[in-house]
Amino acid sequence: MSAWRNVSLWMDQLEEPLIPRAPLVGAMEADVVIIGAGYTGLWTAYYLKRQAPELRIVIVEAEISGFGASGRNGGWLMGNLLGEDRLLASLPLAARQESHQLLHGIPDEVATVLQREGIDCDYRKAGILYTAARYPEQETSLRGQLRALYEQGLTEADYRWMSVNELNEQLRIATPYGAIHTPHCATIHPAKLVRGLARTVERMGVQLFEKSRVRHWQPGLVRTEQGEVRANWVVPAIEGYSVTLPPLGNHLLPVQSLIVATAPLPAATWAEIGLERGQAFSEASRQVTYGQRTKDDRLVFGARGGYKFGGKLRADASLSDEEVALRRYLFGELFPILKNVPITHSWGGNLGMSRSFHPHMICDRKNQVALSGGYGGEGVGASNLGGRTLAQLILGETSVLTRQPWVQLDSSIRQGLRTWEPEPCRWLGYNAIIKSFVNEDKVLADPSSAPWKRSVASGLAQFMEGFMK
Ligand SMILES: Cc1cc2nc3c(=O)[nH]c(=O)nc-3n(C[C@H](O)[C@H](O)[C@H](O)COP(=O)(O)OP(=O)(O)OC[C@H]3O[C@@H](n4cnc5c(N)ncnc54)[C@H](O)[C@@H]3O)c2cc1C
Repeated sequence: MSAWRNVSLWMDQLEEPLIPRAPLVGAMEADVVIIGAGYTGLWTAYYLKRQAPELRIVIVEAEISGFGASGRNGGWLMGNLLGEDRLLASLPLAARQESHQLLHGIPDEVATVLQREGIDCDYRKAGILYTAARYPEQETSLRGQLRALYEQGLTEADYRWMSVNELNEQLRIATPYGAIHTPHCATIHPAKLVRGLARTVERMGVQLFEKSRVRHWQPGLVRTEQGEVRANWVVPAIEGYSVTLPPLGNHLLPVQSLIVATAPLPAATWAEIGLERGQAFSEASRQVTYGQRTKDDRLVFGARGGYKFGGKLRADASLSDEEVALRRYLFGELFPILKNVPITHSWGGNLGMSRSFHPHMICDRKNQVALSGGYGGEGVGASNLGGRTLAQLILGETSVLTRQPWVQLDSSIRQGLRTWEPEPCRWLGYNAIIKSFVNEDKVLADPSSAPWKRSVASGLAQFMEGFMK
């Protein structure tokens, strides 16, 4: 069995053989060389080829397409960006509305490409149910978030409160307090999307080399163990692996997210839970939980992971017993009927967290380097926007895509991106924040916690979360 099947449930489920494409051997020239065959690299190649079929585009991938977060994620294809509230806050209302429209259109744009290119990735657009569950503070928190969304100019058509009864029609959890529903999200099978995109760009004439780890890059040049590509434009698209290619690692921290998948569950179990249309769902703790009912009736459920000292990447994709137990505990709180169901797969991956806690799309025209990333845990949709935007920037075009506040024209990576503090500050800071979240969840989930203890735990977590803004 191919080792890449162990990467995630999604990679394991692919019907195609997971055999790497040929590596890059020798020297070649191209117009654009892209490092990394995840969504960002592939979407960039796709939109470049659509607009300029004559371009010679080369992608070099260290492992195989889908090895990174794009073959591991929770499958929420969202029409938004991490930190968009902060990015858009200073814009006049009309410009903000234009940006919101652009973001909300992401799932539909992806659906159009899937249709056009014949990619089947179990796409179902039924929105997200952000539930208030497990303890009453989640309702207060979600209602506050909804007020903030409306203050930004978003409307009930984008985010609306659902009563417990309304929620129950779609999703039945043990202790519901209501939910926010947004229609701007689809769920997908992540690996089918990334592998389908890889096949599509190859068909369009992009050269994709696998098992070709880049050891050195600079403007105009990318070097692997056995070869090199000289190109006008270089697009590093390695997101959660940025620490491996200086200077990117100074700006993007590899943060983990960890997931489990149950065995396919019987129809009677799902009749009790709901989620008939493939809705994404979460509960509103700061553990950043996310779930979906897959097309083959499994529950896939994830939660935030940690950060390792020095940005060390996690070598082992499978989870420890403790990590599995935490996720089982969290989904078991929502669905007691699932407390003892078999978990067939558990895996994790690295996502890229920028120091400003929001994504960036940068075009350094002087050095001809273009970069999109820093999506945090919200990169499935954002990477489509990133690919579309980078294609326009590289081709020198301007449009609604290129005049967004996350786009930086003519700044180098160093100028455009904030630098993370040196170790041990990064490790101490990040883990102190996460510890405060875990502690808050523990205190609030215990109904016997005294009110003062609850507000101290929440106050501390709220304060710590402020550092992420
Ligand atoms: C467990 C998990 C769950 C997530 N869930 C969601 C979700 O539900 N919704 C959402 O919106 N986002 C989610 N995300 C985030 C999302 O998956 C990512 O933001 C997105 O996939 C990033 O795509 P990418 O192409 O930029 O990076 P990646 O998919 O990581 O691709 C980078 C590629 O670069 C390659 N590479 C690395 N180093 C080198 C090198 N030196 N040379 C050549 N190639 C190299 C890697 O092998 C990899 O294939 C999740 C992430 C994780 C880890």
